[in-house]
Amino acid sequence: MYEIVKHDQEMMRKINKGNILNLIREKKPVSRSELAKITGMSPTSVGRIVTELIELGLIKETELASSKVVGRKALLLDTEPNSVYAVCVQMDEDISRIGIVDFDGTIINEHSYVCDAHSMDWREFSDRICGEIEKVIAETHFEKNKIIGVGIGLPGLVDHVNGIVLFSPQLRWENVKLTEYFENRLGYPITIDNIIKAKALAENTYGSARDAKRTVFIHFGTGVGSALIVDNRIYRGITNSAGEIGHTTINPNGRLCDCGRRGCLQTYITERALLQEARTIKNISSIDEVFEASSRGEGWAASIVDNLHTYISIAICNIICMYNPNSVIIGGKMMKQPPEVENIIKSKVDKLIWAQFKGSYEIKCSSLGERAGMLGMSVLLVNKYIDIEL
Ligand SMILES: [Zn+2]
Repeated sequence: MYEIVKHDQEMMRKINKGNILNLIREKKPVSRSELAKITGMSPTSVGRIVTELIELGLIKETELASSKVVGRKALLLDTEPNSVYAVCVQMDEDISRIGIVDFDGTIINEHSYVCDAHSMDWREFSDRICGEIEKVIAETHFEKNKIIGVGIGLPGLVDHVNGIVLFSPQLRWENVKLTEYFENRLGYPITIDNIIKAKALAENTYGSARDAKRTVFIHFGTGVGSALIVDNRIYRGITNSAGEIGHTTINPNGRLCDCGRRGCLQTYITERALLQEARTIKNISSIDEVFEASSRGEGWAASIVDNLHTYISIAICNIICMYNPNSVIIGGKMMKQPPEVENIIKSKVDKLIWAQFKGSYEIKCSSLGERAGMLGMSVLLVNKYIDIEL
């Protein structure tokens, strides 16, 4: 019994610390009393957490005249952007990104690399990324002793606790001890995670879903995935695999999927699927040609794109029924031409969704785009650094 109580207290302490940090990020500059008022926590508890964050150098006090009380100065709290830096990597089968992110979520230097995961094994791929990481750190002007770690986000099933990539169909990796490899090679603490979960966390911390209580992020890219954020925390499921909606079955006799099964949702939505379909009609070299032809009003392309938007909308409706979120963020390279596409999807979802759910959610396109993965990994690294990862 005592153990359970202790565990619960520990968990509450972490949740409170996370909430206070996010509120400071969102409302800065903000006073302690305002934080206490918003959270309903006691001034003593707020004070204790704030002191801890100040001692870590992440938060600073700024003296500003309060507009509410004339003549009286109030101590306000603000973030310290240069307090810590995270080195963040976003891996994908074709293009990977590396960025240095400060505590405020500003990427102070970033590069993207064409790196074909299918033409090399995981060691060769990782070796190349490590080399690029070292170069980016060396060329960037910042205090290198403030690096809190390297965060790697990648597609697929990731055991984030033990640092193992269990299975990534996109990268074609299975049971890869990635954390161990990068730690030995670079000497920094390494955190790895599923990229969709990282992107969802970034949208919730810095992007389109900043003030949402329940955020779902759905990504339509080389695969289709989703992630749920509940009160600023990633909902992981038992094996960190929650949200793998791309592999829900739509048609058991459908097209073969990356996962080895047939008719998964993502066989209707991904770039490869669309190219396959388009090439039965016309000899094209890239997916952009389909989108361009569609916007020129060519019937064959318009019907393919319309079909794509219908399946994207079905995926969104399923997710809304499953999680009942108040904020749905959509992103990925299959979400072309915003904001028009946002309106098309919104109206399709509105027609397809069960009436009971109408008005309960808001759908928005990602405001962070391709940088979301790096930003999300930086949030995870900070959470680890201040011990609020649950
Ligand atoms: Zn599948």
